[in-house]
Order: sequence, then structure tokens, then C-alpha cells
Amino acid sequence: MRLAKRLLRLGTETAFEVLARARALEAQGQEIVHLEIGEPDFDTPQNIVDAAIAALRSGKTHYTPSSGIPELRAAVAEEMRRTRGIPATAENVVIVPGGKPIINFAIHALVESGDEVIYPNPGFPIYESQINLVQARPVPVPLLEENDFCFDMDAFRKAVNKRTTLIILNSPQNPTGGVLCKRDLEEIAELAVRYDCYILSDEIYSRILYDGEFASIASIPELWERTIILDGFSKTYAMTGWRMGYGVMPSAVAPAFAKLATNSVSCTAAFTQWAGIEGLRGPQDEVDKMVAEFRRRRDVMVAGLNKIPGVSCRTPAGAFYAFPNVKSFGRPAKEIADYLLYEGGVAVLPGTSFGAYGEGYLRLSYANSVENIVRALDKMRLALDKLELERRKTSQAPEY
Ligand code: PLP
Repeated sequence: MRLAKRLLRLGTETAFEVLARARALEAQGQEIVHLEIGEPDFDTPQNIVDAAIAALRSGKTHYTPSSGIPELRAAVAEEMRRTRGIPATAENVVIVPGGKPIINFAIHALVESGDEVIYPNPGFPIYESQINLVQARPVPVPLLEENDFCFDMDAFRKAVNKRTTLIILNSPQNPTGGVLCKRDLEEIAELAVRYDCYILSDEIYSRILYDGEFASIASIPELWERTIILDGFSKTYAMTGWRMGYGVMPSAVAPAFAKLATNSVSCTAAFTQWAGIEGLRGPQDEVDKMVAEFRRRRDVMVAGLNKIPGVSCRTPAGAFYAFPNVKSFGRPAKEIADYLLYEGGVAVLPGTSFGAYGEGYLRLSYANSVENIVRALDKMRLALDKLELERRKTSQAPEY
């Protein structure tokens, strides 16, 4: 079969590939602890499930407008006004199947081939994949451990210029758990205005934050007119399989997103949209409980990782990922991740699945029970102790 050449430019998400390899090992009888997949292990809150069933029973089974039902768009706008202090109305909202289509739509709607797009590295791999798809120039800005994985602002200042059309931000961040501080957001905002750039602010983890208030760049008054917020239901309400997310954007841009939806998915499933209203307007105590539980797991995970000789891990401020440094073992992250899967029985992702600046790190999702996290830490310690012994026997660790 001859596939179109543009497909060669598409990247992927390795989490699904590692999951498949882990499942194959399980099928052979091996015990694997799963820390590779980035999804809450909780069930969707019952009130949302009930709202979906009621919607199905009342015949909400047809096409909806491509930009979503007006009632949900209004509920999202209300949520944006309340949490971000932005003057959003339903006109600014486009509902899509999951947060991910907003990445594709923003890049297709706003970026010409040859334009420059700034994005975090390590970062969600779909950014780079979509930038390459439209033949724009990907300009990575490193997130450094010594900076608690905030944007390297020196690198950002050098990267932004008049050819930059889009700046992609993600806070709280996948894979590092880092959070962009207000001071950095203000400087990014100033430069975005100076160089007339749009911002795609991926805020899918905005509710999974352990300290302080969530800050969106869109809340800075001059930025609201040039920001596309990506958010959704997947992580906040444990609804990854429902496929429902949204973009909040200037009203001049929203029709382009609706057109892209018409040309691809037509619309988001009707009954899920009705359930989404219950998610946003109904009780939020299940979300609070999930975040409290994630914090407990984060603390177990980070403390345990820091006890493993050769591993060091910062405390992530948001999302549900730890990003430990494993440079001391002197091997590529991919090799260590494979070793942990095949020899240690723990499925993790190499930092390089998120870009070149992820070398020397692993990504571990702590969206798993404390019992499984403790089991994974024991297995990792055993396997990495063996690796360290081998390293000592053979040679010194090379520097990355
Ligand atoms: N953005 C980031 C940073 C993510 O980590 C993910 C999912 O892992 C998404 C977007 C996509 O979310 P959804 O599953 O709602 O499409």
C-alpha cells in the first residue's frame, strides 16, 4: 500500500505502544505494574454517568451543531469566567471529542507552512507531530529540572521572533508536572504581544494542582484576544474514554474551529455533551477527592523514588506524573525504560518520548493505587540496583 508522504511527518504517543508491549508480557504470565498510561484510574462520578443515561433515554442521540450544543458552550463559558476571569460567552467555545483535536485545529487554523511554532520540550508529543504535519518549523523551548521544569526563559527570549505565529504552553505540564509561574506568564505575554503571536494554552490539567491557584495566560487582559485555551473533561472528571473537550478562543477564530469539526468529526456525541453540563455545574466534591488522593500518591511516589540509589526526583506541582532523573545510570532513558519493563516488571515511559530534552529522565504516572505504586517502587529498586552493579563493574557513567 502507498501512503501519502505527509504521514511520515506524523509522530505518535508511545504510551499506547508501551501499554501494548506490557499487555503482551502479561499474556505470557508476567506481573507488570502499569505506570505508563496517563489517565485517572477512578470511575467517572456517578452524577455525570446518570446524566448521560438520562440524555440517551430522552433521545439525545442525534447530530449536534459542529461547535457543540449551546447549553454546554454556555456552561463552559461560565466556568471560564469564574475560574479565569475572562469575558467568555458561548460564542467563544467550541466543543470537541477530547482535548486533543484542539491541538490539531489550532495549528491548522492559525499556522502556515514555514511559520515558527514554539512549544515545550519535554512536552506532549502531539504538539511537535502536528507542527510537522503542516510543515511549520518546530522551535522547542527546554524545560529544565533546575528550574522546576518551568520554561527556560532565556531560551524563550531567543526563540521568539517575528516569524513565530504560535506559542504552545502547557501548565500543569505533561510529562514533568511543572507549573508555569505568573512572572513567566507575564513575560511570555509581553513578547507574544510584541511579536503578534497566538497562544495555545493547554490547560487540560488545570484542576490537578496541589498548591496555590491555577493561573491562565488568558487572564492577562491583552492576551484573551490572542489565546486559545484547551481544556476538557478527560483528566478532571476521569472521563478519558468519553472523548469530550473544548477550546475557548476569540470569537473571530471559533467559526474556523467549527468548520474544521464539520470537516472531520461532524460533532461531539450528543449525550456526552449533556452529561458535560452536569460535570461542570454539578457537585465538585469527587474532583476534590481525586486531587487529594493524587497528592497522597505523589508524595509516596516521590519519596520512594528519592530513596532509590541513583534516582532523584523533584516534587511535581500538578498533573499526575513524576519525572525522575536517572542520568547516573549512564544509559539512554529508552534503554532504562525497556529494562524496567522486561527485567523489572514496571511499565514506564522514557523522557525522550516527550522530546530530546527528556533524555536522562523517565515519566511515571501515579494515577495508580498506593499499593501498586509501592510495589512498582520495590521492583524498580531491585532492577536498578542490579543495573548500578553492572555499571560499576564495567565503566564510569558518561555525561549527557
Ligand atoms: N494535552 C495534554 C498535555 C495531555 O497530556 C493530554 C492527554 O494525555 C491531552 C492534551 C489530550 O487529552 P484528551 O484525552 O482529552 O484528548
